[in-house]
Amino acid sequence: MIHQFYPQVPHDYRYELNKDMQLAAAHFIPAESAGKCANVHGHTYVINVTIAGDKLNETGFLVDFKTIKNIVHDRFDHSLLNEDEVFGDAKQSDPDSFPTTEVVARTIWQLIQRELDECVNQPRCLQVLVRETPTSYVVYRAKEGDFEE
Ligand SMILES: [Zn+2]
Repeated sequence: MIHQFYPQVPHDYRYELNKDMQLAAAHFIPAESAGKCANVHGHTYVINVTIAGDKLNETGFLVDFKTIKNIVHDRFDHSLLNEDEVFGDAKQSDPDSFPTTEVVARTIWQLIQRELDECVNQPRCLQVLVRETPTSYVVYRAKEGDFEE
């Protein structure tokens, strides 16, 4: 059971929805400087996504919780993250696409916001928290200019 308190995003929207997910995935960081993390290893990722908006859709949802789960959990659970096209292939040389906790958080934001941009009620993904271990997590927060107008 996931019951945790998360850092709050300051905002002025009427509705805020949070979706918790847990998934098992493997990754490696293809850089010599990554030390032991250059070897394939696994984590139980704990992910929290914060979505906000002023309007609900035709179902009375800000966004369906299931939609968020499909985007994140269905795609990455029991996978080797490096093999997903969003993280390039194993021979990649661009650190901005290595599946580090930071890049995983940003990528999840991009995948979710891309879907939200199609919604008539225009919800926004304000924060993605990715916990890689019990003692390490990253928070990604989009900036105003990152959203479509
Ligand atoms: Zn790792």
